[in-house]
Amino acid sequence: MGPNISRRDFIRGSAATLAGTTMGALGFVDLDQAMADYVKPFHLFRTTETRNTCTYCSVACGILIYTAGDRKKGDHAELIHIEGDVDHPTNRGTLCPKGAALRDIVKSESRLQQPMLRRGGSDEFEPISWDAALDKIARAMKDDRDRNFIAKNADGVTVNRWLTTGFLAASAATNETAYETYKVVRSTGILAFDNQARV
Ligand code: SF4
Repeated sequence: MGPNISRRDFIRGSAATLAGTTMGALGFVDLDQAMADYVKPFHLFRTTETRNTCTYCSVACGILIYTAGDRKKGDHAELIHIEGDVDHPTNRGTLCPKGAALRDIVKSESRLQQPMLRRGGSDEFEPISWDAALDKIARAMKDDRDRNFIAKNADGVTVNRWLTTGFLAASAATNETAYETYKVVRSTGILAFDNQARV
């Protein structure tokens, strides 16, 4: 596809051309333009297309996210459609059933959108801010590391291990984010380090 023609333009133009050509072949030449004008625009024509990566697993399929609303005018970007990215080398436009249902994750009424805390002795979770959550995690990690870090083993060999805390990362992170995460986590001495894709 030419560099100046998007997929949306191509599909829209193809639909209009097909309808016009058919009418022309039947002898209704003057109706070509009228028919082309009548063809309903492709439903994603006025949306914003954003490239991203499926959040589910380490296959890391490329996705296209379509949102309505003009963000340059301050409109809220309303998600209306997600599909596989045909230009992505991993999935070439395909998605497994989980990936094909990604829109429902975003739209789900039970989707978790902020950190939740269950305090000791309580049976309920309460929402807290991201800053409060990060402070709490950092405090707990520091206290635990101070108590349990192992600098040397029984033979006096330097091991620098921290075995009482684990870290779970996200498989949808970029290579750069994954590299930084790995360096930071390993530099603390943590050995129990994994992500949801088990890679
Ligand atoms: S679409 Fe399916 S296979 Fe691809 S990353 Fe998402 S969950 Fe994995």
